[in-house]
Amino acid sequence: MAEELNPWENALKQLDKAAKVLKLDPGIHQILATPKRVLEVQLPVKMDDGSIKVFMGWRVQHNDARGPFKGGIRYHPNTNVDEVKALAMWMTWKTAVVDVPFGGGKGGVRVDPKALSPGELERLTRRYAYAIAPIIGVDIDIPAPDVYTNPQTMAWITDTYSAIKGYFEPGVITGKPLEIGGSEGRNEATARGLQYVTEEALKVLNMDPKKAKVAVQGYGNAGYFSAKFMKELGMKVVAVSDSKGAIYNPDGLDPDKVLEHKEKTGSVVGFPGATSLDNDPQRANEKLLELDVDVLIPAAVENVITDKNADKIKAKLVVEAANGPTTPEADSILYERGVVVAPDILANAGGVTVSYFEWVQARTREFWDIDTVRMKLRAKMTKAFRDVYEMHKELKVDMRTAALCLAVKRVAKAIELRGIWP
Ligand code: GLU
Repeated sequence: MAEELNPWENALKQLDKAAKVLKLDPGIHQILATPKRVLEVQLPVKMDDGSIKVFMGWRVQHNDARGPFKGGIRYHPNTNVDEVKALAMWMTWKTAVVDVPFGGGKGGVRVDPKALSPGELERLTRRYAYAIAPIIGVDIDIPAPDVYTNPQTMAWITDTYSAIKGYFEPGVITGKPLEIGGSEGRNEATARGLQYVTEEALKVLNMDPKKAKVAVQGYGNAGYFSAKFMKELGMKVVAVSDSKGAIYNPDGLDPDKVLEHKEKTGSVVGFPGATSLDNDPQRANEKLLELDVDVLIPAAVENVITDKNADKIKAKLVVEAANGPTTPEADSILYERGVVVAPDILANAGGVTVSYFEWVQARTREFWDIDTVRMKLRAKMTKAFRDVYEMHKELKVDMRTAALCLAVKRVAKAIELRGIWP
């Protein structure tokens, strides 16, 4: 993997930059530059044809100075320990930016979930839950969904963990189905939070959403709901994509109809009335990023905005629904060009914020209605945006560095207060 495209190297570069701006104590810097614990697990699964296949999985616990480790579980054929380490570190910053009492962690399983049957997926999930059970817990580490995992995955993990413990423990995981202690609004939460951040960003940029065109890369949970909510704000959604290609319609797409099409056919490609940006899925996704739009939402994977294409981005505002979509080199180019980036650890923190709400509800056995969840989420996201924006003005740095400085400061303070023991 080229160094620039290794997410862990990028996460360390971002930390270094914030540490420099903050004149961070070198000892604290060292603590933050290493995860507290890394667990690698072997996952043998009995396949439908009777054979045994072994998958590899990880759970990385980056930091818990501010509260239990928190972060999703990703199923992806390309995931590896460096990616999971980076994602765990970003969770530490994310929970600090929105100021929820959690640290940062992340899990990953190296698998192409689309190639497994539902039964194989369930057995793999239960084996993974069993393998990480010794280090997770309601006050220790609380997983959640991420790329290619969903409420059903969380339900299997809840059940496996509860079976091991001998009692129902809904607080060990978030993103569960409503029927077993999930929260209203968790499914839409990442994009709902992103909407609130976008509203604030548009205000400071003096941009009218009703005159704005938006392109969304990725059509999973974050991508679909982001497209839907941007349309609700009055924007024209001119392009969306998934791993099979990208579609474009200058008159605007209807996100719900596109979802229906994807559910029927397996992809957004071929949606009636839209043109395909390229026959090659990768090139189509690259072209989407360079479209003449006002707002760009990367909602897929890491390293899609790099030093190769940062000078071709035409959007004035990039709102990161994905984790780590922009490399540090691209960040510098965008900043010089005056493109504003609402960084992942702020823009997509709505997911973990509603996870926090779900965890509180699980512990108190209370349930909040959707209006309460949305109201509390808006308050958290708006406050986080303003805190980051203030930092950006005060330190005269880009929004990502500002968000990192805010987060690193909060985490460093917690480490200092708690001290080093033993
Ligand atoms: N996977 C999501 C993220 O990257 C949510 C994590 C959570 O809810 O714990 O923020």
